[in-house]
Amino acid sequence: MAIYCRNCGKALADDARFCSGCGSQTVPPAAAPYPQSVTRLVRPRAGRMLAGVCQGLANAYAWDVVWVRVVTVLLTVFGGGSGLLAYVIFWIVMPEEPVIFPPPPTPYQPPTQP
Ligand SMILES: [Zn+2]
Repeated sequence: MAIYCRNCGKALADDARFCSGCGSQTVPPAAAPYPQSVTRLVRPRAGRMLAGVCQGLANAYAWDVVWVRVVTVLLTVFGGGSGLLAYVIFWIVMPEEPVIFPPPPTPYQPPTQP
């Protein structure tokens, strides 16, 4: 993703703080939608049991994931399978959380010998 200078329109590197064309300060790119947006409905990769639907709903609406799972199971057992149906629908509808890779380690720099 390239950013562009607001002043002259020159394409700049992602981490550029100043435009190389005109020297004006660049606007930081819009904050990534994840994980700032709490209400975004995604299936998280952490804390999931099956597909992460219950955990994703719990994250999005600040519910207790245990209760989400309990309600899902109760609806599945006593609700004629509606809990399972809802689970499958959410599984299809909810996108999976994007993988966030850790930053690459700094390459080893041998100490310079005097
Ligand atoms: Zn510029």
